Amino acid sequence: MLRVAIIGAGFSGMVLADQLQKVANVKIFEKARGVGGRMSARYVENFSFDHGLQYFTAQNPDFLAFAKSCDGAIWQGEVVNLTSEKSRFESYLVATPNMNGLCKKLAQNFEIQFGVEVVPFAAKKIDGWHLFDKNSNALGVFDLVISTAPLAQTQKLFGKEIKSEKALPCFALMLGFNQPNLLTKWIFAEVENNPIKSIAVNSSKPNRNKDVSCFVVHSSNTWAADHLEDDILEVQKKLINEFELLTKIDCSSASYIATHRWRYSVVLDEKKSAPFFDADLGLAATSDWVSNSKLEDVWSAAMSLAKKIAAN
Ligand SMILES: Cc1cc2nc3c(=O)[nH]c(=O)nc-3n(C[C@H](O)[C@H](O)[C@H](O)COP(=O)(O)OP(=O)(O)OC[C@H]3O[C@@H](n4cnc5c(N)ncnc54)[C@H](O)[C@@H]3O)c2cc1C
Repeated sequence: MLRVAIIGAGFSGMVLADQLQKVANVKIFEKARGVGGRMSARYVENFSFDHGLQYFTAQNPDFLAFAKSCDGAIWQGEVVNLTSEKSRFESYLVATPNMNGLCKKLAQNFEIQFGVEVVPFAAKKIDGWHLFDKNSNALGVFDLVISTAPLAQTQKLFGKEIKSEKALPCFALMLGFNQPNLLTKWIFAEVENNPIKSIAVNSSKPNRNKDVSCFVVHSSNTWAADHLEDDILEVQKKLINEFELLTKIDCSSASYIATHRWRYSVVLDEKKSAPFFDADLGLAATSDWVSNSKLEDVWSAAMSLAKKIAAN
């Protein structure tokens, strides 16, 4: 059986593992402690925060059926633009009980090695790719290695250029209050010309704890790029200040405050390219750089790569 290593237990990695486990001997390596990657969640005391992807949409009926089968649920309500003060009613999809729910559901079917960071690999040997973690532990020998890391990291791992792409950074400020319904007028706010790009009322999503109020505040991508290396507490102070001005909520009563720096958050340009697959070399890669960051396009790319590998 084909020996396959998948680098990353985010959404692409889980979709690939689910598809390929029928036709290959698959091993999955993830540097973090859990599944989800950029659609992961942070849990602290009574609070939970989807600090990456907030919601997704499904135009493709196959993707919608897949999301439903993995306990995806509808999150709907008023979405306001705090700059223009216009609002509209929106219906989004979210994973439950947290945003990593889709990945967790798929991950029930296979084993993942967590806390394992795969390091750039040397030349392929006659028996295959020899992979190692950052502590020089041998991870095995593989016929095919698939990277689902962001493009810049994938190119470093492979030691070769696949294509160019600009993944934009973003800061995520997480605010938890031990008080329910601090904001009930809207579920999501968009902001323009401000260090803040959006505010999600995370606790208003389905199956979240309704006894508390949790907010996930995303910085604008350009502001994040300009402040990427700033002290994280300075970034946090600035975002809290803007959040207070926009919502009139006093953050001194928050029980949990933290900020996460996403170096690669989204790819906004829409492209139509294919996942990377070099069957002779035994290397493949996919993620949002193939088309864009829409989850259903990330899903389509991973599904098409799995099909190509299975047919090879
Ligand atoms: C702040 C933010 C906002 C977003 N907003 C939206 C949005 O509004 N709409 C939308 O559609 N999408 C959005 N996205 C993007 C969406 O979350 C991603 O497109 C999607 O989650 C990509 O999944 P993936 O599995 O391809 O990659 P990732 O989630 O990046 O998974 C890659 C995994 O590989 C692991 N990894 C990397 N290198 C190694 C290594 N060397 N060894 C072992 N493991 C490794 C990482 O830890 C990670 O878990 C957003 C993302 C962020 C962060």
